[in-house]
Amino acid sequence: MIIVKQIEWDMGHRVLNHNSKCKNIHGHRYKMEVSLEGDIISEVGNSSEGMVLDFADVKSIAMKYVHDILDHGFMVWEKDEKLVNFFKENPELKKIVVPFTSTAENIAKWVFVQLDDKYTDVFKTGLKLKSIRLWETPTGYVVCNRDDK
Ligand SMILES: [Zn+2]
Repeated sequence: MIIVKQIEWDMGHRVLNHNSKCKNIHGHRYKMEVSLEGDIISEVGNSSEGMVLDFADVKSIAMKYVHDILDHGFMVWEKDEKLVNFFKENPELKKIVVPFTSTAENIAKWVFVQLDDKYTDVFKTGLKLKSIRLWETPTGYVVCNRDDK
């Protein structure tokens, strides 16, 4: 069975070599869906009995390893010299330096890698991360499955 939790955050970025307005410094309200698959926990008397994973646990891991790292920060490609230098001069500003240009596709892959080993199969139900769906705008999203890593 598949369970899905949505998480949102605000983040700035730019797509350095893009040939239109995306090369400008701007931000998005990102939304993602974390999809997990596994069997239902059957351990009688356990707090999570009858669930694939407690939604509260899905959320707390996604908040810690994605939301809290990215929210109200600026994602900078390490090859974007102008912005790398700007953030060196302004170390008090929140930034996330990454080895890729910050398209929705690459951010979704980063999120997948970030979360993949955090959802551990504690109950031996085959629990694992299935996919990350990431909206950059209300009408556009990407889906990162395990094979897309
Ligand atoms: Zn953008």
